[in-house]
Amino acid sequence: MTAGTTFFNYCPSCSSANFEYTNNFKFCCKDCDFVLYHNIAAAVALVFTFEDKILFTVRNVDPDKGKLDLPGGFIDPGETAEEAACRETAEELGLEIAPSDLRYITTSPNHYLYKNVAYRTMDIFYEFRLSSADIAVKAEDEIKELVWLQRGAIDLSRIGFVSVKKVIGEYF
Ligand SMILES: [Zn+2]
Repeated sequence: MTAGTTFFNYCPSCSSANFEYTNNFKFCCKDCDFVLYHNIAAAVALVFTFEDKILFTVRNVDPDKGKLDLPGGFIDPGETAEEAACRETAEELGLEIAPSDLRYITTSPNHYLYKNVAYRTMDIFYEFRLSSADIAVKAEDEIKELVWLQRGAIDLSRIGFVSVKKVIGEYF
C-alpha cells in the first residue's frame, strides 16, 4: 500500500487488521470477506468565458489552497452532471444558469486528497459563455477571489488540479 492512501487501520465490519487495500480502490478483509469499493467520484468543472477571457477561482481551502481552479464540485447522488453544474454555480457565484446553456467540452481524471483520504474523480467540463464580466464570489469560504485571464496566455503552473491544467492547456 502507498503511504497517504490508506485510511483504514481495521476492517469496518470485524475490526481485523488482516486486510488488503489494492490500488486505493478495493478494500477486502481476509478474515470476514467484507469488501468495500472506493470508486471514482464524478465531479463537474465550469469554464466561464467572456470575450477572449476565462474565469478562474483562487482556492481558499486545501487541497491546493491559493492555486487557480474552476467553479464546480462533486455531483450529488441522484443529480445529473448538468444539474450539479447549475447548483454549484448558484452556490459559488450566486448565478442562476440553465442546463441548456452549458456546452460540453470533455472529461478528465483527477486526484483529490482531502483530510488524508485520497479520492480519484472524473471531472466533466462544460463551457458557459457569459454576456458580461460582472460576476462575484458568493462562497467566500471556498473561493478567495476570481481572476480573469486571457485565453491562450495562461500560466498553467498556477493551476492546482491536473485535470484543469490539462483541459485548459488543450482547449483554451
Ligand atoms: Zn473483516
